[in-house]
Amino acid sequence: MLRPVATDDDRFYFDGWQQSRLLVQHCRGCEAVRHPPSPSCPSCGDAGWDAVEVSGRGVVYSYVIPRKPSLRGLLPSPIVALVDLSEGVRVLSNLVGIEPAEVSFGLAVQLEFLTVEDGFRLPVFRPAR
Ligand code: ZN
Repeated sequence: MLRPVATDDDRFYFDGWQQSRLLVQHCRGCEAVRHPPSPSCPSCGDAGWDAVEVSGRGVVYSYVIPRKPSLRGLLPSPIVALVDLSEGVRVLSNLVGIEPAEVSFGLAVQLEFLTVEDGFRLPVFRPAR
């Protein structure tokens, strides 16, 4: 399957997946938590940050089911979702353990890591229990 192409700014994010950790940036200047990764804080401009692990709890903000092209290693078509995490950031991921017709905006979901190919771990969300 396709793998993320990391840059110096987001390598921590993808490396975290392989440790089953979903990491976001925490600004040293203003304490804001941000995602997606960026070289400096959009709130205060500070370039200092630390990677912090999120709780994995969130709600579905929106979702889509791509039909074409089919994605190798992710068959059938995944439910691609924007998830608002309880930390106040929004992440792009896939939903598992639910039929497309059952997905709703605001659905409570919980992070887990799926091993897809060659031991590669992918963060996904499933309905919270
Ligand atoms: Zn800041």
